[in-house]
Amino acid sequence: MQDLTGKTVVVTGAAKGIGRAIAVAFAKEKCNIVVNYHSTEPKETIDLCEAEGVKVLALQGDVSDFNFAKDFINQAKKEFGSVDVLVNNAGITRDTLLLGMKENDFDDVINTNLKGTFNMIKFASKIMLKQKAGSIINMASVVGVTGNAGQANYAASKAGVIGLTKSVAKELASRGVTANAIAPGFIETDMTAVLTDEQKAEIFKGIPLARGGKPEEVAEATVFLAKHKYITGQVLNVDGGMVI
Ligand code: NAP
Repeated sequence: MQDLTGKTVVVTGAAKGIGRAIAVAFAKEKCNIVVNYHSTEPKETIDLCEAEGVKVLALQGDVSDFNFAKDFINQAKKEFGSVDVLVNNAGITRDTLLLGMKENDFDDVINTNLKGTFNMIKFASKIMLKQKAGSIINMASVVGVTGNAGQANYAASKAGVIGLTKSVAKELASRGVTANAIAPGFIETDMTAVLTDEQKAEIFKGIPLARGGKPEEVAEATVFLAKHKYITGQVLNVDGGMVI
């Protein structure tokens, strides 16, 4: 396992939830942290990372904007001299059954979750290829494998993220760059806080470990993949056994 001390880690959508936990987990590994945020202020993320004694650069922007992705990645490199780990975490849901799904419900989710991931990889991989080292970790979802009623847009975006991850892994491997995906199941964040206790209880019945996961548990898996140099093109489920 490689030591991550002093490496530069870029995390999108890191103001809260899983993204914040990931930024903090890498700060504990003594990495330079570059966070992207959208509308939520990232103060708590910055404070928690700085408390670990590391430097933090925070930039606001929309991951679906190709030009923002270019500026964001280039600023990370300019500030810290390298881009060693890219975590594509930013994501949204616009859940509704297919019959009620509007065109923009589909487009917004694909643009943020899938195109946003492509945008960041496009620019970060250029730097990683030159470095002959790097780790790309994309946040997918178990529903990208199983599908889910009411989430045709979201499941399609996450299935796309898995296909993108596997393709990129094959393209970049010869230059020492790995690409993996994490497929969380039910994680306790704002994204799942909209569900009622009854809905959650129903979901937990389908989870062998019988509980939701914590953002920190996804973050631990992310750090593991960043440290490992002989795992690429894989999808690691962090789901309490929801999909076995
Ligand atoms: P969350 O608490 O809603 O956080 C999502 C983050 O993404 C927010 O910080 C949000 O920023 C940011 N974001 C949204 N649109 C963005 C954009 N266009 N550009 C940049 N940032 C943007 O959700 P979470 O549960 O932590 O989810 C994190 C990732 O895990 C997502 O990719 C999600 O699909 C995936 N995931 C979550 C679960 C789960 O059960 N929670 C399960 C499977 C997969 P703003 O709030 O400022 O817009």
